[in-house]
Amino acid sequence: MYRLYFDLILNKFISIFDNMKILLEVSARHAHFSRSELDLLFGKNYKLHIKKYLSQPGQFLSEEKINIEVSNLVLENISILGPERNQTQIEISMTDARRIKINPPIRESGDLSGSPGCNVYGPLGKIKIKTGIIIAKRHVHLHPKDAHQIGFSNGEICSLKIENTSRPLIFGGVVVRINSEFSLAAHIDTDEANAACINGNSCVATIITSNGALKQNIFN
Ligand SMILES: [Zn+2]
Repeated sequence: MYRLYFDLILNKFISIFDNMKILLEVSARHAHFSRSELDLLFGKNYKLHIKKYLSQPGQFLSEEKINIEVSNLVLENISILGPERNQTQIEISMTDARRIKINPPIRESGDLSGSPGCNVYGPLGKIKIKTGIIIAKRHVHLHPKDAHQIGFSNGEICSLKIENTSRPLIFGGVVVRINSEFSLAAHIDTDEANAACINGNSCVATIITSNGALKQNIFN
């Protein structure tokens, strides 16, 4: 019995230091294009119009949108994020995937092998991409300084605790991505946001390290 109380107090004490508040942002379906595919859809050297800058330095939401189609099933108004990337990638939710009857893998950005393709419609017409549709794996962006503070290494898995909603929730399986180009933010998709009843574009979550997550389970 004393041992149980000791563990509870110890875990509570450690969790204060393990956990860290972070900006949580919700990503709606969107596309990243390579320069050559953007040229085909919008015109040679077309420059995307910046609607707003995102939390990650240099990344922006553009005014432009495209539609995608798989076997006559269409997803419309997919936002384009800039700047251009080395390879075209389209990130949709599982709900979106069900609508167009495909089964994309849940992946980290850039890991596109074996993912489904589609037809993409822009103002200049249609292109076909062979691969590129994924459901983004939920993730945390960290600058190496933040990662050092928490003790995270790249690729580690953590959890995100969402409070102050009518559906408080802990998301497990959140991949830690560390890069000197990143600023501290967590990204989930619209399905995940709906599951936690997050209204608006962003809120605050608490990072729980793998140790912390185990400690949380002791309370259940
Ligand atoms: Zn992200």
